[in-house]
Amino acid sequence: MTPMMKQYHEAKAACGDALLLFRMGDFYELFLEDAKTAARVLGLTLTSRDKDSANPTAMAGFPHHQLDSYLCKLIQAGFRAAVCEQVEDPKQAKGLVKREITRLVSAGTLTDDDLLDPREANYLAAVVLHTPRKGKKQTDEPVAGIAWAELSSGRFCAGVFPMSRVEDELARIGPAEVIYREDDAKFSPDSTAPWSWTARPAWSFAEDASVELLCKQFSVGSLEGFGFRDDDTAAIRAAGAALTYLQETQPGGLDHFRSISAHHRSGVLEIDASTRRSLEITRTLRTSSRAGSLVDAIDLTCTSAGSRMLADWIAAPLVDLDAICLRHDAVEEFFSQASLRTEVRSILKQTYDITRLLARIATGRTGPRDLQQVSRTLAGLPTLKAKLAGRTPKRIVHLESHLHLCPELRSELESALADECPLNAADGNFVRKGFDPELDSLRELAAGGKQWILEYQQRQMDVTGIPNLKVGYNKVFGYYLEVTNAHKDKVPDDFIRKQTLKNCERYITPELKEYEEKVLAADEKAAAREQLIFHNLRTRTHHHLATLQEVAVAMAELDVLAALAELAAQRNWVRPEMTDDSVLRIEAGRHPVLDVTLPQGEFVPNDCVHAPETGMILLITGPNMSGKSTYIRQVALITLLAQAGSYVPAESALIGIADRIFARVGASDELSRGQSTFMVEMVETARILNTATSRSLVILDEIGRGTSTYDGLSLAWAITEHLHEQIGCRTLFATHYHELTQLEESLPRVSNLNVAVKEWNDEVVFLHRIIPGGADKSYGIHVARLAGVPSEVNERAKDVLAQLEIDHRDALDRPSIAPPQGHSDRSGGSYQLTLFGFSDHPVLSQVQRLDLNSMTPIDAMQFLQRAQREL
Ligand code: ADP
Repeated sequence: MTPMMKQYHEAKAACGDALLLFRMGDFYELFLEDAKTAARVLGLTLTSRDKDSANPTAMAGFPHHQLDSYLCKLIQAGFRAAVCEQVEDPKQAKGLVKREITRLVSAGTLTDDDLLDPREANYLAAVVLHTPRKGKKQTDEPVAGIAWAELSSGRFCAGVFPMSRVEDELARIGPAEVIYREDDAKFSPDSTAPWSWTARPAWSFAEDASVELLCKQFSVGSLEGFGFRDDDTAAIRAAGAALTYLQETQPGGLDHFRSISAHHRSGVLEIDASTRRSLEITRTLRTSSRAGSLVDAIDLTCTSAGSRMLADWIAAPLVDLDAICLRHDAVEEFFSQASLRTEVRSILKQTYDITRLLARIATGRTGPRDLQQVSRTLAGLPTLKAKLAGRTPKRIVHLESHLHLCPELRSELESALADECPLNAADGNFVRKGFDPELDSLRELAAGGKQWILEYQQRQMDVTGIPNLKVGYNKVFGYYLEVTNAHKDKVPDDFIRKQTLKNCERYITPELKEYEEKVLAADEKAAAREQLIFHNLRTRTHHHLATLQEVAVAMAELDVLAALAELAAQRNWVRPEMTDDSVLRIEAGRHPVLDVTLPQGEFVPNDCVHAPETGMILLITGPNMSGKSTYIRQVALITLLAQAGSYVPAESALIGIADRIFARVGASDELSRGQSTFMVEMVETARILNTATSRSLVILDEIGRGTSTYDGLSLAWAITEHLHEQIGCRTLFATHYHELTQLEESLPRVSNLNVAVKEWNDEVVFLHRIIPGGADKSYGIHVARLAGVPSEVNERAKDVLAQLEIDHRDALDRPSIAPPQGHSDRSGGSYQLTLFGFSDHPVLSQVQRLDLNSMTPIDAMQFLQRAQREL
């Protein structure tokens, strides 16, 4: 093996399963299996080293300047990569150039701006299964510790969760990468998860080592100060593993990780993973993109950090009445004071993402432009602080007190940095003239030397009579005099020839060399001096890390509060009244996403009244496409927005704080996840029935769709009864089973609603207005016509329907369903469900199961043809 390949293998052994990008001159090369993977993933050409040997080594590479774009592709494909750089100048190296791994890059440990979306957080999460030590509590069930950390901001949290909630919590956090214990069978990579999984050694999750590591990182003697309790061991183990991993990937340091917060679930509205998906809170169901989600529709923040914080708020709304009201108070201040809002927002627009700048400073990847952006951000603070001074809302008072002006740092950075600063310190020329006398004099010397060279060139032209004589410079010979062949004979004796080119000769003179040394030395010294100044400025800024982090968080929150107020003002949203009672009263509510995306005035507002005595469960019936799902989602989203601290799209709203929100909606989108529609539906329903409390809000859309009509209807029926009798939570249930409307008669807290439909000359218009009472017609056939199903088919369908309705009436005499055991028959015998009231011709259940929304006219035609044949 050549020495270089030996060096390669050593580096490869140190980087685990990451792909090793090995710097060779102007290229990064990958070898062996890595080369094959890279060829496949990056589309590189696979070649080989030592082609003629018996065992050629597979190799693939790319030019060094393309590193970022290739890294990005590798990360997106779920890989990790180690970058092995040449750490000494090849020209000065004796023998083999020294190389070291300088960066380990993975989805959860990105810091490069080019690879990150400024509006989205990029979390690394660590998960560990934990069985508490025996004897502490009777219920020593296994739990999981989850920690999540963001390298680009220094945010770090950890908490303990029941095993069953791991998926939900990860969905809330939305990490890019999750690390788990390599011997933890429970967390073996689930390839359908939207993050990449990385196995880590068991020792990095050890309790004692974790406590020690965290205490050392935060310079504390105990973790209690961060809010951890005795039973938070699992959280600490996960946090320790996350920190170990971050330290390994960041040789530059992690000083911006200055604290960790203990996450206790009680403070947060619980939303499980499928509810999160169904309500499209941060991503849409179909395309899984931010565009079209709730967060996207309401995001009027003017800074990236504000945008990330808003997403956090929406992903984890609050449950504490006072905490929610504090946010509303602050939004109200910005809402009612339009000029304050405008001014604050315009100042924030001028600021930079200092959270991420600070992370770069702490990890040693900063440049002059970053420092300049810190100083420009600081420049906006005095006005911002003045605008907020003397306000009454407690949040604003708190945030104002965190806007530390850091005047000395600001004036130092302002006087040191030039107006235009390069990204990298190595590019030089960023220190302002007048800041450092020594630098100025070195610069003058260098500039003066250059001036001398110009004069020298002129002098030599005059003396020799060579009109096109010029002074040039290259790295090998330094300064030289260049004379074209035509004038070669005029060259004086004291010119020393150095190089002969095709058309000219190059010479040097002792005089020229003497000045060259002066110039180069001054240039070099100036560059070194500038680096020193940069280093000092960086250290000075680094000292302010903790203070600046507070400023960054305060600015982000001000941005969120002002943006929510701006949204409320633009879209006519109102401040919701909050209460701990289990009520809900929304007047003229709108769907927050459609309210923003539809042209103003097009959305039809609707009320929603959940009264504990009569309308705990609202059953909404109505034709397909009439607006049922929109209505029930809008109620859930309004509640969620209110608890996140936002105003809501309604004329007025009284919101009883929910402890959990559950949404069980249309199953078709889950098919891709590999389970049968019905199974998915029932798993989620089971979860709701098992975990909802009387303070929860449940929305159900078309339960029982995935099975035969009778199965589905009976399940929907029984589920409604259970919610009514056992749980008593606020429920909105949209269904196409008209039979369920009979429940209103027997269950006192069920109320029927339906969507108003206007029939006019055989035409049907959906008014999207929710009105009391149950729907009595399906209108599926009308929807088919709207969708373009040919009129003959529709006419025939009407006949078939008429016949079915006759059969249905005939069948009403058949046995009806009895109330469940132990259930009081409140309605005195009217507890009737004609479950078996249909004739059981197979065509009927086929008609029932039709999903008209997804049928093409041809499908419908073919179906009717088949049905006709069977009848
Ligand atoms: P359903 O659940 O009854 O099948 P949806 O809630 O999916 O119906 O609504 C169907 C379409 O009607 C939606 O795409 C939406 O654009 C429109 N819509 C629903 N509710 C309203 C409303 N209140 N105002 C205006 N348009 C609405």
